[in-house]
Amino acid sequence: MMDFTILVNKDNLLPRDYVPEGLVEIHEPTGSKIDKTYVNKLNKQAYDAFKEMQKDALKAGYEIFVDSSYRTYDYQERVFNHIVAEKGLEHAKKYVALPGGSEHQTGLAVDVIFRRNNEMIEEQKEDDPEIMWLFSNAHKYGFILRFPKGKENITGVNFEPWHFRYVGKKISEELFSSDMTLEEYSNLQKSK
Ligand SMILES: [Zn+2]
Repeated sequence: MMDFTILVNKDNLLPRDYVPEGLVEIHEPTGSKIDKTYVNKLNKQAYDAFKEMQKDALKAGYEIFVDSSYRTYDYQERVFNHIVAEKGLEHAKKYVALPGGSEHQTGLAVDVIFRRNNEMIEEQKEDDPEIMWLFSNAHKYGFILRFPKGKENITGVNFEPWHFRYVGKKISEELFSSDMTLEEYSNLQKSK
């Protein structure tokens, strides 16, 4: 059974050969911006939960899709090197997860994208109604906003209104109601 609370960040890197359990291929009208042939995958339970959330979002009038999901270590390394080549190492270190340091490698993380008036909106902002709907509802489906505003010093990552992480319904409710990040939750578990 996969541990849905697995913590991945710059201090908790996954090894190159780490491949999570239970990945399924997903087919959404989106895809990687760097490699168009890349097939999106997610943990099955996480994707089932996402689909449920997607269905309810649609009922509320919002068309939400998975943009980027599972990434291998090698893929993250390519993304990282791509940014290094374009903007330099310092910039990359600040804005892109290190190879092994992206929780996309767990198959539990989702970058969302949405469609409005038949047009894909490539940039997600905190005041977009779709994003606001996710902020107040994602926890009901087992997802958390992984890098919230005001918690940058704890997560070590800038506010990312598009990045959601599946942790399972029980934990997502707990983190939502106590306004806790996964880092804080993980520390709390260690101290128990
Ligand atoms: Zn992401």
